[in-house]
Amino acid sequence: MSKNIDWKNLGFSYVKTDYRYIAYWKDGKWSDGELTQDNTLRISEGSTALHYGQQCFEGLKAYRCKDNSINLFRPDENAKRMQRSCQRLLMPEVPTEMFIDACKQVVKANQDWIGPYGSGATLYLRPYLIGVGDNIGVHPAPEYIFSIFCCPVGAYFKGGMKPTNFIVSEYDRAAPQGTGAAKVGGNYAASLYPGKLAHDKNFSDCIYLDPQTHTKIEEVGAANFFGITKDNKFITPKSPSILPSITKYSLLYLAKERLGLETIEGDIYINQLAQFKEAGACGTAAVISPIGGIQYKDNFHVFYSETEVGEVTKKLYNELVGIQFGDIPAPENWIVKVE
Ligand SMILES: *Cc1c(COP(=O)(O)O)cnc(C)c1O
Repeated sequence: MSKNIDWKNLGFSYVKTDYRYIAYWKDGKWSDGELTQDNTLRISEGSTALHYGQQCFEGLKAYRCKDNSINLFRPDENAKRMQRSCQRLLMPEVPTEMFIDACKQVVKANQDWIGPYGSGATLYLRPYLIGVGDNIGVHPAPEYIFSIFCCPVGAYFKGGMKPTNFIVSEYDRAAPQGTGAAKVGGNYAASLYPGKLAHDKNFSDCIYLDPQTHTKIEEVGAANFFGITKDNKFITPKSPSILPSITKYSLLYLAKERLGLETIEGDIYINQLAQFKEAGACGTAAVISPIGGIQYKDNFHVFYSETEVGEVTKKLYNELVGIQFGDIPAPENWIVKVE
């Protein structure tokens, strides 16, 4: 029985669901993970996650299909990305099999919280790994916690896709050889203030330029950037300080293999936006958010339209979301069923 929720008007907020998965790393190994109803943690005041930002996280969704089965979208990619974040922050890795098994356990135990097929609502999974245990010096924690909780979330756009506007930030979210490519909380702490400045001026979020030269687009707050050129090329930035979005790599594949576009990962100069007829932001939460216009210094550049969504963006969205909900055949190994 699905929960009594107004699925069509659900936003993106914390909801305490029934179960979360938790595993402990101690003496060089992970404990057997288990499900618990307790949504609080008791950790040492000296935990490195609290003082030195030794923590990372992931985000993925579970989708209810027409035949009532449940899809996970490329969870192995989230597992691998979390392993890379752990390598960067000297934390113990969670093996891919353990990660996917934990996702499945959480989804199964909370399946009444997945929106019905057609509502657009999904179950957002939040895996995270934190350094804990008594400590004060700057070095890796003695112990770790890996947990996954979930929240029901609504369709990103209620009543259809709509473009929104963005503003280029003067701040950086990451340093050239810093932790930009790792999904770590520290990057987000650094982004709260620039994000607030953007929201205060009524923009959806800010766009960060490359931290070295401030001439090229890096990414959009918590999503990657892509543009469609006037001659139908799909272009997305390439940089070591961008967070490698699984949605972005999926779109690169779909644009080429399903839509027949030429695809390029390369430089996108902020003063060359006129080459694009469409642009968008992509990520698990944002799916594909069409970009109406970008404010850069005193110039406001409009892509396709501030109110209408371009054809290529629409096609990419339908292909991606169709695959995620099981309506369109997926490339091999993209869908993992929760059974
Ligand atoms: C998670 C994240 C994204 C989107 O990645 P997906 O794998 O597509 O969800 C983009 N940018 C940042 C900074 C992120 O943290």
